[in-house]
This record gives sequence, C-alpha cells and structure tokens, in this order.
Amino acid sequence: MKTFVRSFVAILLLAIASSCTHVHAQVRPDTLPAFMVWDTQASFGTTMTDEEIGRYLKRFADHNVTGMFLRATNEFYQRIAPIARASGMQLHAWRPTMIHPDSAFMAAHKHWYAVNKDNESCADTPPYVGYYRWFCPSEPEVARYLVNEYAALARIDGLAGIHLDYIRYCDLYLPVGLQPQYNLVQDHEMPAYDYCYCSRCRDGFRAEYGRDPMDIPAADSMGRQQWLEWRLERIVRIVNTIARIIHAHTGKYVTAAVFPTPAMSVTMVRQDWSKFEVDAVCPMLYNNFYKEDVDWIGECVQEGIATMEYRKALHAGIMVHDVMEPHLFKRAIRTALDNGANGVVFFAAGALTDEQLRIVRTYR
Ligand SMILES: [Zn+2]
Repeated sequence: MKTFVRSFVAILLLAIASSCTHVHAQVRPDTLPAFMVWDTQASFGTTMTDEEIGRYLKRFADHNVTGMFLRATNEFYQRIAPIARASGMQLHAWRPTMIHPDSAFMAAHKHWYAVNKDNESCADTPPYVGYYRWFCPSEPEVARYLVNEYAALARIDGLAGIHLDYIRYCDLYLPVGLQPQYNLVQDHEMPAYDYCYCSRCRDGFRAEYGRDPMDIPAADSMGRQQWLEWRLERIVRIVNTIARIIHAHTGKYVTAAVFPTPAMSVTMVRQDWSKFEVDAVCPMLYNNFYKEDVDWIGECVQEGIATMEYRKALHAGIMVHDVMEPHLFKRAIRTALDNGANGVVFFAAGALTDEQLRIVRTYR
C-alpha cells in the first residue's frame, strides 16, 4: 500500500509540475501569527476601494490579529494579497475541500459524490442542508482535482498558505447543541448520515478485508473498527497528498479547520486529524454547539495536543458569539493558551468588537 501511495503522489507531482514551472521562490513567513481570524469575501462588499480594504485589514492588524483565513475567489486573492502585505496581515486562502455544491459541476461529475448507507448519493439527496454535497474520498479524480485547485491557490503571489475546511465525511453525529434544529436525536449511527458506501469504497474495502462493509453486523466490533479505519485513512491520504505537494512546490503553509479533538472528530465526522501532516490545525472549539462552558476549550486543546500523532501547531478556534462578554472572551483566550495552544483563531471577523480587539492587543 505504501508503494501505491508513493507512486500516486509521484504521478500527481508530475501532473502539476509543468504548471508550476513559472513559480518563483516565495519566502513564507517564519511563523503563523498567534491571533488570526476567519473571514469571507462578503465582508468586503463589491464597492470597497483598495484604500478601504487596507483600512479594514489594519483595524485587525493594529490590534495584534495579524493572520486571516479568507474565503474568496482566486481573483480576489490576487487583488487583496498586496494590500494585506502592506497592512501587516498574513493572508491564507480558505477553501472547502470535500464539499462541492456547484450544480453544473455535480451534473458533470455525479460519480465523484459520496453515497450513504441507504444508497443515496449526495448529488441527489444532500443530508441536513442543500449545500452538503460531499465528495467520495476514494475517487482518484477527486484527489487529482483537489491537488490542482490548491496548487493554483498556492501559486498566487503574496498568499502565505492554504487552509483546508470540510476535510472529512458528512457529520454522522451533529454537535449535540445543533441536533434540535434538525429535529434529531442522534443516539446511534443513522444510515442516512453514514458515508461512503459507493461501489468504489465497498469494492476497495472488500479487496483488503474480503467482505462488503454493508454486511458487517452491528455486533461485529472488530469488523466495524476495520471499516472505520479504512475510511479514516482515505481522508488522511488526501490531506497528506495535498500537503506534500504544496510544501514541495511552494513551501507555503497548509493548515486545516477540524473538529474539537481527534477522538470526537473520528466519532462525529470520521476525521483523524491527529495524522494530518499539515503545519497547523484549527479545531473549532465552539463551546455552545456542545453545550459546554469556556473551560472546555482548554480541555480540548490539551487533549488535542496530547493525542496528536503527527506534531503540528494548534490554533484554538473560538466562536466569538459564544464569548461576547469581555470576561468570557478573555477566559477563552487564556484557557487556550495556558493549555498549550500556539494561538487562537476567531470565528468570525465580523463579530469582533472594538472592545474585544483591545483585549487581544494586550497580548502583544
Ligand atoms: Zn465512496
């Protein structure tokens, strides 16, 4: 299997090498900023001038929030990257990985999409919400497509790195605080949210273990564990392939937004981020989603660091709306850093008040 992975990576490297030849060496910043923020192109509207964009970014940078994961088009990254640099903001391209809800794309690549245990494709029946159109991680064309997409992003001058998100399967379990919104009590594995049972995945597992995962009885814990690990590995392989290629060709940062702890991620969304060979992970420690208090943020940070198989930085993702009051906001930052986080990422930029930014500035 290792040989297969190596040759798979080699082929992908060759495939994108020609399109990378014009890349000139870009020095990446030495470190990720301690305080970062998630933001989207919508925050900039359609009429902001370059000067206004510069002022918008400087409001954060002047208060010690000097890194941004920005979700935007490639064209917007090209425009904003030099402004970010001049404003003291380290800019990363934030782009969802395993969901792709574009309808024309879906129609053209229907077989790339994941299938649940009820044999329904995400392309026909999205789980939970309309944009939940998940790729199957076993489809080789998916990996090739993603590598090319992220390589194109990483080639943009002035971007410090790429930021993966939705790098997992569909939620088998929603966070407990969100289940009532969908009238669900998820106290067992529900087939409608259990992916991927497409023929590729079933055949792939059968080739290694001699059985169809559809036929594993609930009582067969060893069989269930093998099927779980087989699926975890599909996502790990995609992440590590993307990271290896981006690092080799651009030296830029590869980071990922992930679920709270490796153990929770494995159970809820079949994401084993402890094995992700990226520069940093940003677990989304949104305490109200889980009906937890602020101190839970620090507990997750500690567990995440302790159970990390591949060493990397960890920035604690904090939901600003969960900690609006200054004493909660301070405590969230404190518990993350005291428990070993390398930094904090705020979700999202638009929610941060001037008072909160003044608190962040005191950490300079
Ligand atoms: Zn599949």
